[in-house]
Amino acid sequence: MLGSGGREHALAWKLAQSRLLAGTSDTLYAAPGNPGIAEHALAASLDVSDHSAVVHFCETHRIGLVVIGPEAPLVDGLADTLRAEGVSVFGPSQAAAQLEGSKGFTKDLCKRAEIPTAGYVRTTSLDEAKAALADFTPPYVLKADGLAAGKGVVIAETSEDAEAALAEMFGGQFGDAGAEVVIEEFMEGEEVSFFALTDGASVLAFGSAQDHKRVGEGDTGPNTGGMGAYSPARVLTPLLRGEVIERIIAPTVRALADDGTPYSGVLFAGLMLTSEGPKLIEYNCRFGDPECQVLMMRLEDDLGEILLACAENRLSRVQPVKMSKDIALTVVMAADGYPGTPAKGGAIDLGDAEALGAKVFHAGTAHAADQLVANGGRVLSVTAKGATVRDAALKAYAAVDAIDAPSLFCRRDIGWREIAREMD
Ligand code: ATP
Repeated sequence: MLGSGGREHALAWKLAQSRLLAGTSDTLYAAPGNPGIAEHALAASLDVSDHSAVVHFCETHRIGLVVIGPEAPLVDGLADTLRAEGVSVFGPSQAAAQLEGSKGFTKDLCKRAEIPTAGYVRTTSLDEAKAALADFTPPYVLKADGLAAGKGVVIAETSEDAEAALAEMFGGQFGDAGAEVVIEEFMEGEEVSFFALTDGASVLAFGSAQDHKRVGEGDTGPNTGGMGAYSPARVLTPLLRGEVIERIIAPTVRALADDGTPYSGVLFAGLMLTSEGPKLIEYNCRFGDPECQVLMMRLEDDLGEILLACAENRLSRVQPVKMSKDIALTVVMAADGYPGTPAKGGAIDLGDAEALGAKVFHAGTAHAADQLVANGGRVLSVTAKGATVRDAALKAYAAVDAIDAPSLFCRRDIGWREIAREMD
């Protein structure tokens, strides 16, 4: 398993329970991993960006399946290299990972396959982009084409603000990722995430979630990688979910297969539930972080077997995924300063958090001497299940309160929108 965040801890935790690892000689390795992942997997000292080193490791250790957690190695073509060497991989090829790696690529694919999404134009210079603004009404949605760690989207209320943002984007704010900017129509509605596995032919629904991107309570302040999430998202009713699979996921899978670049892995669709039905905001080519933590918490099937079936193009023979009926909710504890420069080195004592029924996934943690310390922006992901979002939140926050970590903070309102609906 490759990666080092809360998402990868959740994957490693679930993979470690797989029947695939039941034999005495079966081992789960993680690179680079983190102290939480180390409870379930052996650390492989490996530079993930060195593809031939990864191949060499897989050959030496006779690895039966590589699970790639984050997007960067996928967009970088690691899955292609491994497949070419005969290694089973969970994760899309470089060509298919363009769904996340290039917003313009995805918009063009949506247009061709008649997938509902916001109207758009691709622009490659400041002058062209400024002129294109005239075809849109405020608020203006401006997106750097490439990967920008979730920071490449600007929503500008006025044309002056939009022009200023465009100048920064074309001025190199996002490096190569901003060499092209996609301008989009603004969509109104509630956002929801939907996850589906595909081997390029079959589609297996994996579940829904809602996350909280803003750092502050009431969904205020700057965007982050995600401060919390819960699953399932009830706003995505079975009827809407069917529509998403039929009108968005399935045509995407077909279009990529028709292009000769079939998608294999998890498709993470960011959706807007508009008055005209669900529309695609964006695709990601990996599980979300922290959405993965809540999905894994609910998963009642063998993750290893499902991901291997996906990697080996056997998804059509896999039964629908069994998820707990409970709600899972996760609260991210981040280091002071995040999403700016996070304070590193603050001591963490997990206390009785897990004894209270929660699972504490590690993200940016490290060991300094015998002490667990903060070592990144998002540090812990405290996850619990309950019959309602409110129950799950109460349990997760009880565990948060049992953790002694003065340099960490969290939002106290994860799940607020759904909890308010439950109280109605
Ligand atoms: P992520 O961090 O989710 O990977 P990203 O940088 O890849 O984000 P998007 O998901 O495309 O970018 O957009 C980020 C956010 O901007 C969305 O979650 C949504 O809130 C808002 N947004 C994006 N496109 C639109 C749109 N067309 N209309 C309204 N809001 C939008």
